[in-house]
Amino acid sequence: MKYIFVTGGVVSSLGKGLAAASIGTLLEHRGLKTLMQKFDPYLNVDPGTMSPYQHGEVYVLDDGAETDLDLGHYERFTSGVLSRMNNLTSGQVFDSVIRKERRGEYLGKTVQFIPHVTDEIKCRLHKVTNDNPDVDVLITEIGGTVGDMEGLLFIEALRQFSLEVGKENVCFIHVTLLPFIKAAGEVKTKPTQQSVAKLRELGIQPDIIICRTEADLDEDNRKKIAMFCNVEKKNVVAFRDVAHTIYECPLDLRRDKIDRLVVDKIGLGHTPSPALEDWELFVQRVIHPKHKVTIAVAGKYIELQDAYKSIYESLIHAGAHHDTKVQIVRVEAEAIEDHGAEAVIGDVDGILVPGGFGDRGIEGKILAAKYARESNIPYFGICLGMQIATIEFARNVCGLEEANSTEFQKKTPHPVICLQEEQKGIEDMGATMRLGSSESILFAGTQAAELYDNADRIHERHRHRYEFNSDYQDQLQEAGLVISSVSAEEGLVEIVEIPEHPFYIGAQFHPEFQSKPNKPHPLFAGFVAAALKRSHLEE
Ligand code: GLN
Repeated sequence: MKYIFVTGGVVSSLGKGLAAASIGTLLEHRGLKTLMQKFDPYLNVDPGTMSPYQHGEVYVLDDGAETDLDLGHYERFTSGVLSRMNNLTSGQVFDSVIRKERRGEYLGKTVQFIPHVTDEIKCRLHKVTNDNPDVDVLITEIGGTVGDMEGLLFIEALRQFSLEVGKENVCFIHVTLLPFIKAAGEVKTKPTQQSVAKLRELGIQPDIIICRTEADLDEDNRKKIAMFCNVEKKNVVAFRDVAHTIYECPLDLRRDKIDRLVVDKIGLGHTPSPALEDWELFVQRVIHPKHKVTIAVAGKYIELQDAYKSIYESLIHAGAHHDTKVQIVRVEAEAIEDHGAEAVIGDVDGILVPGGFGDRGIEGKILAAKYARESNIPYFGICLGMQIATIEFARNVCGLEEANSTEFQKKTPHPVICLQEEQKGIEDMGATMRLGSSESILFAGTQAAELYDNADRIHERHRHRYEFNSDYQDQLQEAGLVISSVSAEEGLVEIVEIPEHPFYIGAQFHPEFQSKPNKPHPLFAGFVAAALKRSHLEE
C-alpha cells in the first residue's frame, strides 16, 4: 500500500478535508483504489457527544460510527465506504493505551508518549493496511494545524511510520494559506514558510505544498515558496477559492497536476491521466442549471454553515440530477413559532425538517409540517422531521390534541413517538442510540417504493433514540397516514407518507449520508422533483 498524509498549516478551515477528498477523486479517476481516513487530535472519543456548535454535523457510517464531517466529503468524493477504523481520535488512542496499562499489557514498563502512544497510532495505520489488501492508496488527513500541541504525537507517529514503510511509499502534503493583504495589494508567503519550517522541525519534509489562495499563485511566489520550503517549484500547487461549488475542487487542483505529482512520488506514475468527464458534467449541471426551486430547511442550528452539511449536499446532488438549482432558505424553527408558517415559508417550493435533538423550535417545526400538509407543499422530514410529521398528523388529523414525543413531553397523554420499551431507563449518553445501517422492508405500491425503483429492501443509516409508537399505528393509518417501510428486524416504522399529497414523506433514517454527486439519493431526488413540479405550477 502507498500512503498520503495531509497536514494543515497557518489557520484552520482551509479546506484541508476538501483538498484531501479531491486528491481521492483524482486518484480514483486514475484507476487507483483509494481509501480515506481522518486522524483527529481532540480528546473526545468521537464527535457523537459534541454540540453542533462545536463541531458541525456528526457524520454516521454504515457500521454506526459517529465521525467527523470530513468523512462525509470522503464518501461523496470517492466511492469508498468507510468504517469506524477510518476516524481515529486522541480520545481513542489514549483510551486504548490506558486500558492496556490497566490490564498490565505493558509488562511493568513505564508507559510513555513515545513509544507507547505513537505505537498505538501506527498500529491503527498497520491495521487499516492489513484489513484492506485491495487498496492501492490510503489517504489520511490529520485534523488541526501543525504547531498545535495536541497534534504533535500524530505528526511524530507519521514520521516514524514513513521510515518503517519506506519513504518512497509515502507522500506528505501540507495545505497552507497564502493571505492576501489588501492594503499592500500582495499575497504573502511568510506564514507558509513558517508553517513548513515547523513541520520540518518535527522531522517531516513535505513533498507537495498546497497553497490556498484567493487569487492566482504567480511564478515569483511559487519560486519563493519552493526555495524556502525546500520543495521543487512544480510541487507548489495552487488551490484557489472555487467560484460556484466545492465539486470544482478536484478540477482546480488538477490544473497544477497534483495527481501526477502524487503518483510520481509514490511510484504509481504508470497510471493513466484521470478521465474526469463524469465529474465535469456534474459540475456543469450544478453551475448552469435550467430550473430553480426554493427549499426551506427549518432547523435549530440554521446559522451554522456545517450543521446540516450532508443535507445541503444531497439537495445539490438531487438538484443537478434534475438540472435544477436548489436555493436553500435556512429557517430558524423558532421564527415560525413567532410569526407563523405562512409569513416565514409561504413562498417556498418545498419544506425540509432535518434531524435534531432537544425541544427548542419543536412547535415551529410542527407548524411547518402542518402548513406543508395543508397547502400541498412538498414536505420531507428526516429523522426528527419524520417524528414531527407523525406528531402533526396525530394532533391535527386524528384529533389527538396533545400528541407528542416523550423526548419533548415526558407525560404526554399520546406518546406517538417514544423510546422503545427496552431502552427506557438507560441514561448513558451516546450508548443507547440506534446507530448505523440496517435493513428495512419497503411496501409495494407506496410512493417511497416507487422512488426506490420498486426495491423491496433498502439499507439506510440511523442515528436516533426515539421511535414511532406502534400502539398508534392503526389509528394513524385509518386516518390516512401510510407506513411505507418498516425495519426488517423489529418492524419499527421507517417511512411514513401521505398518498394523496404531492410529496409528504418522513424517514426515520438519514438518507443524506448516502447521496453522491452522480448518484442522488432517491428520496432527495423525489423531493426536488416534487418541488420543481410545484414551482412550475406557481409560475
Ligand atoms: N431526537 C430524535 C431521536 O433521538 C431524533 C434524532 C435525529 O433526528 N437524529 O429519536
